[in-house]
Amino acid sequence: MPSSSSRTSGAAVKKTRVVAERKPSQELNPFALAQAQLDKACDKLGLEPEMRAVLRQPMRELHVALPVRLDDGRVQVFQGFRVQHNDARGPCKGGIRFHPAETIDTVRALAMWMTWKCALMDLPLGGGKGGVICNPKEMSSRELQQVAREYIRQIYHMIGPDQDVPAPDVYTDPQIMAWMMDEYSRLVGRHTPDVITGKPLALGGSAGRQDATARGTVYTVREACRHLGILTKGATAAIQGYGNAGAYTAQLLVDLLGMKILAVNDSRGGVYSAEGLDPAAAVEHKAKTKSVVGTPGTSPISEAELLALEVDVLVPAALENVLTGHNAGAVRAKIVAEAANGPTTLEADDLFADKGVFVIPDFLCNAGGVTVSYFEWVQNRSSWYWGEQEVYERLDGRMVRAFREVLATSLEAKTDMRTAAYMVAVQRVAEAIRLRGWLEPRSGV
Ligand code: GLU
Repeated sequence: MPSSSSRTSGAAVKKTRVVAERKPSQELNPFALAQAQLDKACDKLGLEPEMRAVLRQPMRELHVALPVRLDDGRVQVFQGFRVQHNDARGPCKGGIRFHPAETIDTVRALAMWMTWKCALMDLPLGGGKGGVICNPKEMSSRELQQVAREYIRQIYHMIGPDQDVPAPDVYTDPQIMAWMMDEYSRLVGRHTPDVITGKPLALGGSAGRQDATARGTVYTVREACRHLGILTKGATAAIQGYGNAGAYTAQLLVDLLGMKILAVNDSRGGVYSAEGLDPAAAVEHKAKTKSVVGTPGTSPISEAELLALEVDVLVPAALENVLTGHNAGAVRAKIVAEAANGPTTLEADDLFADKGVFVIPDFLCNAGGVTVSYFEWVQNRSSWYWGEQEVYERLDGRMVRAFREVLATSLEAKTDMRTAAYMVAVQRVAEAIRLRGWLEPRSGV
């Protein structure tokens, strides 16, 4: 991410310590991180080696090549993946990411995290994830549609309402879900809205899905503040990443909790305001210029400085490996709310534990998205649609319940919130595996 100190305002410099820029994420393998996190929880639980062996690997994965005719007449072959980590608790669930830096190991990690996310939220679903290596920022709408449809043509035998239900993730949106749902429905010869979630409202999407990840994040921040005795009104936050999760989180922290947003950034740079910036103005500016940089009433701030701001809540809301051994020591937030998947490395976790930073781990913090996806799937299957308030209330109830379970486990087992979240989730998946008899010797075979 571009972040040079030369673009930094004097005000922001005085408020922050200079810290090393983060290393490029390629240096850190998210799947190795996911497995190491799991190992830590398995040790704590004393889980048997056979069960660990099952949980450490995805059950199934498909690699596909997608030939697509570009607008200039050339054919480009895009690479894509769908990974199903575990379906012991129900059909796999998880988004599809379109990103130029996508790798199979990133998809494996994200699929595994979906298994824990669905189990922690007690959804009757397993974990999966998909990805296509492409750069939507440089593609036309027609090209994107071709990639989306070709991807579904190649994976459609592996997905379905009772097998694996995709959804949006980084750089995919309701329009892309609409094309994918249409392609799947054509292939199977019947309208199948429940094959994919995050659809537009007009095609069976759920009220409240668009900002659900952020809303869930804000509910968990509210609970964390309650636990730590932080008054939310007037409390401060900084947001790293200004896509769906980041932008809605900024707005909802202001609207629902009365917080002040001191800084936000995106892949092109960041902005700062000591008085608190207007999240809607940053969204408007980004819509016009493709970046929050230059939002009226703000001064520039580098990513290293944003992460080191003295705020109550720091929200990593973009990609993996943002908080590492190189920069976590400089974090001065009381709470790190992981709206992104996998933003924190093991070294950073250790530093946060030493410093007493309260981490709301990713698969708890950002579980609002998949929870409302589950509501969407339920609504599609019953053809009975709920109002916005009903969605918000049900989401709030589920987020609070999961937060309290994790907090209670963390206090009881004297461990950090991430390991506690793993303990709750892994036990649920392991129970389903045991009950299904996957680890029993088969008689007569
Ligand atoms: N991509 C989102 C996540 O990582 C949502 C997944 C879903 O709705 O299935 O949680």
